[in-house]
Amino acid sequence: MKRVFLALALCLIAGGPLSAQTLRIYQIDVEQADAALIVMPNGKSLLIDSGKNGHGQRIRNVMTLAGVTQIDAYVTSHYHEDHFGGIDDLVGIGVSVLESYDRGDKECCLSDEKKEEVTFIDYQAAVGEDAIELRASHLINLDPMVTITAISSGGRVMGQADNSTGVDENDMSVSLLINFRGFKAFYGGDIEAPTEAKIAALDLVMDVDLYKANHHGSHSSSSSAFMNDLRPSVVVISNGSHGGHKHPRRVSLNTYAALANPPAVFQTNRCLHPAPCGNVPNASIADPETTDEDGTILITVNAGTNNYSVQYGTTTRTLTVKNPSAGPAPTTPSVVISSLLPNPVGDDVQSESVTITNKGTSVSLIGWTLQDRSGATWNLSGSIAAGQSRTFRRNGQAMTLNNAGDEIVLLNPEQVEQDRFSYDASTEGVVIQTQH
Ligand SMILES: [Zn+2]
Repeated sequence: MKRVFLALALCLIAGGPLSAQTLRIYQIDVEQADAALIVMPNGKSLLIDSGKNGHGQRIRNVMTLAGVTQIDAYVTSHYHEDHFGGIDDLVGIGVSVLESYDRGDKECCLSDEKKEEVTFIDYQAAVGEDAIELRASHLINLDPMVTITAISSGGRVMGQADNSTGVDENDMSVSLLINFRGFKAFYGGDIEAPTEAKIAALDLVMDVDLYKANHHGSHSSSSSAFMNDLRPSVVVISNGSHGGHKHPRRVSLNTYAALANPPAVFQTNRCLHPAPCGNVPNASIADPETTDEDGTILITVNAGTNNYSVQYGTTTRTLTVKNPSAGPAPTTPSVVISSLLPNPVGDDVQSESVTITNKGTSVSLIGWTLQDRSGATWNLSGSIAAGQSRTFRRNGQAMTLNNAGDEIVLLNPEQVEQDRFSYDASTEGVVIQTQH
């Protein structure tokens, strides 16, 4: 383990001081499994998948490197052990997971065999029972500078007209598009050709910088039409040395190489199987020796320079963001959350309230929402005159101002964050002033 600490620590030092303009993505070496830790510019963390059973300590080691002490949001892409197996272990060694998400459909649609699988029962007990169902088009709000959009879930994709769902567990993975000031990364779990085709048909994901190869670089994923939409600059493959499915497949590596602008392709580990397994050159494999755990790949995006780097061991590659954009940058909001009452005297479901203040010119609040940490919302209505405040009562709406602490986000009709406030506790009848 020492090697991974030293190598990545050197990378971080070489990369200079981390600023608020930096997004960091750690593709964690979990062998033939998947786990990525993403640290937002504001320090909040997103963990996508958690490796196999027993991989909690590997994830925590990378969290330590990254300076992260808790997981603010965790997503299980789908219900295969190589994607959710490590989360109970991570929770078991004392790491807090504040919100967890998965593709839902557990009660209705999973086989008894799956529900009785010991690792799945452990998953449910650790975070799964409280997980929020992440559906296509849902957002995960962690940082106003980073937009995290669920593109697919359960085999349905954003904007899909018909109701058809997936039939294969891999293909029903939650896929996420992460956009940080124009840098785009696609994380599709193990989605395969059918869901990729739906995404490509609607051109939902175009011209990304980073593509975490779907399904460990399997031949059943990374289909041509989909890849011709994504046109990634960098492909990262999470694979093991001894995986029975022989990932990545040579045919997938050939697909990447045949793109008009072939991407730089990296693997966490070297596949030791013969064909149909394939490998990129050893210099592009983070753990070519395959005997240890130092195959974590770090991608650091710097919005100030519009560059990003890919780092592992002593290797650093620097690339340019394809389509950098200024937004969504934080602007001085004119409509803010000025106070809230999480714990009213009487019925919380009716009487919780939030007061909004308009510091700018008159604005319509139709289409505006308030959203809590779980993603539940209140709809606002009417308008608010310049310099005025309005108090909105819950009146039975879904969002709960949790008495034990919560985080409330104010979104305009374009889903762009306008303000955010978190609190840790409440007292009955006492209004919390945000000072915004
Ligand atoms: Zn997998």
